[in-house]
Amino acid sequence: MSGWYDPESRYAVGVDIGGTKINIGVLDEHGNVLFDHHLPTVALTPAIVPDIVEGIRLVLNQLHERHPDVRIKGIGVGSAGQIEFATGKVHAVADYRCSAYVGTSIKEMLHRTFEVPVIVDNDVNVLAVAEKYFGAGIGTKHLLCLTLGTGIGGAMLIGGKLVHGAWGGAGEFGHISVDFRGETCHCGGVGCVELYASGTGIARRMQLKSKSGLDSPDTRQVVERWLEGDACATEVMEEAIQALGTALMSLIHAFNPEKIVIGGGLSEIGAPLFARLQEEVTRRTMPVFRESLQIQPAYKLNKGNMIGAAMMVLKDDWKE
Ligand SMILES: [Zn+2]
Repeated sequence: MSGWYDPESRYAVGVDIGGTKINIGVLDEHGNVLFDHHLPTVALTPAIVPDIVEGIRLVLNQLHERHPDVRIKGIGVGSAGQIEFATGKVHAVADYRCSAYVGTSIKEMLHRTFEVPVIVDNDVNVLAVAEKYFGAGIGTKHLLCLTLGTGIGGAMLIGGKLVHGAWGGAGEFGHISVDFRGETCHCGGVGCVELYASGTGIARRMQLKSKSGLDSPDTRQVVERWLEGDACATEVMEEAIQALGTALMSLIHAFNPEKIVIGGGLSEIGAPLFARLQEEVTRRTMPVFRESLQIQPAYKLNKGNMIGAAMMVLKDDWKE
């Protein structure tokens, strides 16, 4: 192994590859960020890997300058897209605009360069691991995680272990159907909850419903209008919340979770969203499943994905 590797080290590199930004840091086992570096995601293609290699070199050099004796246990990566967990390759992307990213061997390329263990998983799975150690997952064994952003992502910790499924695709909660006669989704499915309750879905449905074609508010403006009592925005947001409540009902009956944590940009609406969502879930879910269930916002983890990615390397008890 290279000069960077120490299997007993309490430090690791965490990398968060998002649709707009890449965060790279050196972290300790308590989730503290020692050094970090950020770069924009111009496009999700294999060409981002050399930029990530440079970013990792940069933070490792900072580590070496400050603490010449410290080595790392490995590199953890959370990436957008569906990741084949065993090989650390991008297996698929739901969004056809990122199709060039499919097949990118993130794990192999980083391992070859740095000669340390590398773990690659999808972005919501690493967030769930961050929640397990530092957020809503503390003291919780059966936890579901949803992110409401431009799309809807999901992850689950069952018995405290992250569930990957056969190749790593488990947890695509955004593509649970809430209407078998509904619209066709970009994933090929029908009536997926993402069509109604993602940021993209909310803005698109508002545009469809507003009478003048000139009015095309973004998701944030739809939410503002909803909170002000605008009739059209209320209709769109009510549909979003009912769709989400329907999807959560299915998840609750399937997994009997103790907690559901909801993160992503839309979760920042806070109390008005969570109160209505709780009502919808209560209306649709069998009483015995509701007794001990909590639905709460994700812990406000600054740099949560990067922290979770590093914890995948530094800790073991999340593994199936
Ligand atoms: Zn879908």
